[in-house]
Amino acid sequence: EEEKNKYIKGRELGEGTYAIVYEGRLRADPTQLVAIKKIKVQKEYSDGIAPDAVREIKFLQELRHANIVRLHSVYSTRDQNLCLVLEHLPRGDLEMLIRDTAAVRYGAADIKAWMGMLCRAVAFCHDRAVLHRDIKPNNLLVAADGALKLADFGLARSCADPYRPMTANVITRWYRPPELLFGARHYTGGVDVWSVGLVFAELIIRNPYLPGNTEVEQINLICRALGTPTEENWPGVTRLESYTVPTDRTYPVAGRETFLGPFGTVGSDGVDLLMKTLVLDPRRRITSRAMLGHAWWHAEPRPTPIQDLPRRN
Ligand code: ADP
Repeated sequence: EEEKNKYIKGRELGEGTYAIVYEGRLRADPTQLVAIKKIKVQKEYSDGIAPDAVREIKFLQELRHANIVRLHSVYSTRDQNLCLVLEHLPRGDLEMLIRDTAAVRYGAADIKAWMGMLCRAVAFCHDRAVLHRDIKPNNLLVAADGALKLADFGLARSCADPYRPMTANVITRWYRPPELLFGARHYTGGVDVWSVGLVFAELIIRNPYLPGNTEVEQINLICRALGTPTEENWPGVTRLESYTVPTDRTYPVAGRETFLGPFGTVGSDGVDLLMKTLVLDPRRRITSRAMLGHAWWHAEPRPTPIQDLPRRN
């Protein structure tokens, strides 16, 4: 109740699948803008917000990083809705930049700058045992100074508690890693690294790389593009609960040449990093920390300074 009174709710900024976002102002200093995200609670499934959920999300307030959307406050309303008070970022998201091929031009140096910000944000979370679990271009917001900020920790949860099985039904389908599609219950930061790899691929080709219409089709696209998961390339995979792959043929794991064609514009180091994020076996996939140590960051071209990054008008 006290937290709620710190803010004045203003006009609606937008509506998402499970939330309505409002502009807000700090009562103590109305020049300070915030975004108030009201999570729609599905009444059929619950009697409102579990105090647990609020406590869990409150933990995310400690997560402070230049490339992560600040969570200022969390409270539940009288009508049992959950409100997140977030840093105000009205300049759109990375998906808008990728899609606006008519007005937005960008190159390898810009991609390297955006990817650097994304990777630093993800490694920062993973170091603190927090998985994001829903990384996609639409969740990467652009700040007034051009910085990219990872948003929407609505699905993120501490992975520090090994006794609580995690649900496999997270992450928007196109960015979902094979271990989740196969129903793995214990997963790691590798799920985010896979999604980061697909954002990387999409930045380069300016189209979603693996846009499956269903979960089955998603698995088929992964197999065709990257190889069929088997006991040889991923020990234990066939024992996962929902393991199913196309049976007409076994696709080989994609080699360098396969990637150099469509993704060669980021250079051979860039292609090497991309390939390491899209390794089928999550245990063999590169970690977010290791991504930051990759040679690509030091190869030409240098990343574009954030103030010079392309933006929408
Ligand atoms: P989705 O991710 O499905 O678009 P969200 O619930 O995250 O839905 O956000 C809905 C809309 O609210 C976004 O499209 C955007 O226009 C706006 N929005 C979200 N977060 C912020 C923010 N931090 N600052 C300003 N506007 C925001």
